[in-house]
Amino acid sequence: MTVLVVGGAGYIGSHMVKTLKKNNIETVVFDNLEKGHLEAIKDTLFHKGDLRNKDEVESVFQNHKITAVMHFSAYSLVGESMEKPEIYYENNVFGTLNLLNAMKKAGVKHFIFSSTAAIFGEPVKLPINEDHPQKPTNVYGETKLAVEKMLDWYDKIYDIKNVKLRYFNAAGADPSGEIGEYHETETHLIPLILQAALGERKHITIYGNDYDTKDGTCIRDYIHINDLTDAHLLALNYLEIEKKSNFFNLGNGCGHSVKEIIAVAKKITGKNIKVINGNRRPGDPAILIATSKKAKEVLDWSPKLNNINTIVETAWKWHNGTAKKWKKNYA
Ligand code: UDP
Repeated sequence: MTVLVVGGAGYIGSHMVKTLKKNNIETVVFDNLEKGHLEAIKDTLFHKGDLRNKDEVESVFQNHKITAVMHFSAYSLVGESMEKPEIYYENNVFGTLNLLNAMKKAGVKHFIFSSTAAIFGEPVKLPINEDHPQKPTNVYGETKLAVEKMLDWYDKIYDIKNVKLRYFNAAGADPSGEIGEYHETETHLIPLILQAALGERKHITIYGNDYDTKDGTCIRDYIHINDLTDAHLLALNYLEIEKKSNFFNLGNGCGHSVKEIIAVAKKITGKNIKVINGNRRPGDPAILIATSKKAKEVLDWSPKLNNINTIVETAWKWHNGTAKKWKKNYA
């Protein structure tokens, strides 16, 4: 079996590559390196290309005998998606269309899709299960939902079976410290806090402390990156055995507030992190918590690194180690 990991040089993709290799599954990475890093996928078969270029996408299927595709490549910044919707539709929707058409041409039938909690929009009930209404409040979530729908039709019409995995807040890093989250423009809470701990930022700004939550700050369901990649592996197995499509919400089922995450980070880093209270970020729901009961029952998935201390500890090991070296190389 050979798995094509699209966006395999990025944060989640590179952890997936590591998990696949650990399980002795052959892996080919397709990435345009716009956001990904070759250092993250050392000793991996790499095919440079852009999803928006049909010929480049087709060529990876001509050069390798692919059995299944895992698709991690997308623009994923909510704020940016509200300023430049066209690049989100082009990359996330049109790019995925090219990928599916190339799969159709090559006769590849199994597809695992990185979807998101953002397809649900403002929660009407908590925890969020798979039946929750789907009403995205931003273009990013809308493009992911558009792909989910496209996948249903490609299943019905072309028999391409898919598993859609809706991540809540992906966080943490491989416990080895070798790879982790590295974005040129960082917007995510945990990396920003840890960069503040390292003195790379002056402070962390809390986006709103007047929410209707226990301490006034937003609550999110943080899920370790390696627990996510485990779910992909199980999804791959599911497609091989069941040969049918399905969809799952992936989270730990418990929420942590922004203030709680800052407190955990202070404890783990032993650093004094300067905190500033800022305005709410437009489009941020107060609470997002998943239930992953379905993934547990159907895929037999059980998150192992689900303690928030472990999530922040692994992220800290990365940020305080290899990430610093990367920073020097990219400076
Ligand atoms: N957040 C914050 N300050 C920051 C970045 C994020 O208070 O500098 C909050 C944000 O409002 C949200 C939570 O942290 O409630 C997680 O945000 P992140 O961008 O990491 O993930 P998202 O929930 O948007 O997917």
